[in-house]
Amino acid sequence: MKMLYDTRDARYESIVRKHADRLPEYGHPMVRAGWYPLVEAMLNQVARDHPTVIFSRIQAGGGWLHVDIDNGSRPFDPIRDHRLSRLIQNFVTLSLSTCEECGSHHGRHVDATAHGCGTSMNRTLCEECVPVFADLAVTALGRPKKESCNA
Ligand SMILES: [Zn+2]
Repeated sequence: MKMLYDTRDARYESIVRKHADRLPEYGHPMVRAGWYPLVEAMLNQVARDHPTVIFSRIQAGGGWLHVDIDNGSRPFDPIRDHRLSRLIQNFVTLSLSTCEECGSHHGRHVDATAHGCGTSMNRTLCEECVPVFADLAVTALGRPKKESCNA
């Protein structure tokens, strides 16, 4: 069975190592492997254009990328601050069409309730990866489907 967030591979570890200074103090990007390139590109661009910025949240939720910036680290200059917001918004928009599993740009919003899961499990997936819901929903023999969606 797949973990909700597959956060232990080499790509993920290298992103966390490279950007440790601007990641949340007690959290790491909570996204699935398909969004690693997206999150890494965002972190690289923020590091280059807004080096003082610290993130308070980078997280997949309901099929889109949630990003919060630590308020004290935002650019003081309103024009630069606006540029930062635009930069992040571009990546949030990209998340809406990037498959959370494989990273293809053919992702679409998938309603988890159609697969026996709660709406909190809504995800952005390409057609090839929609069957991932089967992995999330199927558990040990005899357990009801909906229980495993919280695993
Ligand atoms: Zn996919």
